[in-house]
Amino acid sequence: MANIVKQPAEELVRLTNIDKTYGSGDRATEALHDINLSIKTGELVALLGPSGCGKSTILRIIAGLVQPTNGDMLYRGKPLRGVNPHTAIVFQSYALFPWLTVQENIEVTLKPLGLTPLERTKRALNLLDKVGLDGFETAYPRELSGGMRQKVGVARAMSVEPELLCLDEPFSTLDVLSAENLRGELMDLWSSGVLPTKSILMVSHNIEEALLMADRLIILDKSPGHVLAEVAIKLPHPRRRKDRPFLQLVDQVYALIAGKTQTEAEELGAAPGEPGKTRPLPHAPISAISGLLERVNEEVADRIDLYRLADELDEPLDDMLPSVEASEMLGFAKVESGDLSLTPLGQTFAEASIQAQKEIFAARIRRVPMIRWIRSMLSAARDRALHWDVFQTALALEFSPDEVERQLDTAVNWGRYAELFFFENDMLSIDNPASLPEPEHQEEERQDFDPVG
Ligand code: ADP
Repeated sequence: MANIVKQPAEELVRLTNIDKTYGSGDRATEALHDINLSIKTGELVALLGPSGCGKSTILRIIAGLVQPTNGDMLYRGKPLRGVNPHTAIVFQSYALFPWLTVQENIEVTLKPLGLTPLERTKRALNLLDKVGLDGFETAYPRELSGGMRQKVGVARAMSVEPELLCLDEPFSTLDVLSAENLRGELMDLWSSGVLPTKSILMVSHNIEEALLMADRLIILDKSPGHVLAEVAIKLPHPRRRKDRPFLQLVDQVYALIAGKTQTEAEELGAAPGEPGKTRPLPHAPISAISGLLERVNEEVADRIDLYRLADELDEPLDDMLPSVEASEMLGFAKVESGDLSLTPLGQTFAEASIQAQKEIFAARIRRVPMIRWIRSMLSAARDRALHWDVFQTALALEFSPDEVERQLDTAVNWGRYAELFFFENDMLSIDNPASLPEPEHQEEERQDFDPVG
């Protein structure tokens, strides 16, 4: 973030015409082709792109763990020999030693630096304090939550005081809430300038996450990995998901990645109560959508004929079509002349972990008019909760009674999976119902609320 570095920015990393091929002969994989990029002090740069586009390879080349096949990698203007002593990587999995305490896990990393035991202890305690793990020094990794273990990973990487901190999808194995918290805490540390680091390079598959944090996005595509676009993010921090400029940027980046020509508004249609016809949800449960995407992703060819797919999935084509429509609506797939192909985003979804799939799906459906409408209704209601009937009444203005039920069933199926709202005892709510007031109170609320007004 430019606001913490008062001096003019200096160039830390420059990659020029980098190619990387793993293996040779028949087994050669061209992972990167002609990569050019630079990272300056004061910047948080995010590498974004589908699985297999070479993000981790770039990170490892910069860290000196992988040698490029062609091209130059300069650190502060000088070629790199061996491991880069100015970088440290926080990996996806925690990679902590289970038999060592939290504090020992950090101290062991400091051993090669030639510090005295007292200096090592001081530095470890100082960092644990900074990342909010004060009081957990003697705990073992198994006694910590995923988010806390990842904080130890951050503290450990930070303990060697790297100029460039590399984050390799550090939040992707955490649940949504822990990931959100850790992201926020890391951004606070980075923006307050207490971290002994000048730049951060982060690998992410998650567009919102990258846009919440980064000053610049480098968007990659695969086969072989190449840079598709660079986007400077000038929005001030803290960034909020709901702010209009933020949402516009998310749309632009999605459009870049999904290669869309229409704006999201044109593509997705109107929400109930907005001018224009409400875009109904295709009746596809999330299990059917992810099953379809994962199946198509296994296909060797880039595209698959829809009839053949239906046949292979042993499903009538008509039953499969809602999942196809949903996949198109969410930017995961395209249909042309009866063939279905996945977008890079669809591929990323199909290959992502369960948690990462949830996050990608949540980010996509937040902009679907029906879901957006339900969330805005709930946010406006007192206690952020409303009875199912309220939505039923409002939708009955546009859809038949059967269709209303189906629309709401699908919305609830998607919203619950993406953890965008809860549904219990006929109530929809933004917050976990366990923390909501008694149902009688909700009934009174509902009578006061005018669903269409
Ligand atoms: P990403 O981090 O974007 O998922 P990677 O850098 O891991 O991408 O991989 C890019 C490509 O290089 C992929 O096709 C992957 O299979 C291949 N690859 C990565 N590491 C190796 C390796 N050690 N040996 C052979 N192929 C590899």
